Amino acid sequence: MSTTGEKPGKGIYTCLNCLQKVVLDDDTDTLPPCPRCKGTEYTP
Ligand SMILES: [Zn+2]
Repeated sequence: MSTTGEKPGKGIYTCLNCLQKVVLDDDTDTLPPCPRCKGTEYTP
């Protein structure tokens, strides 16, 4: 599991709360709060 503020690397992360997908396209990108529900927990 990854949380907002981490830099887990490139990939597609799914919000645990609402299943919204967030794409990180660079290893230096930081996980944002979920754009839909403001959730902070994601699964790869
Ligand atoms: Zn969400």
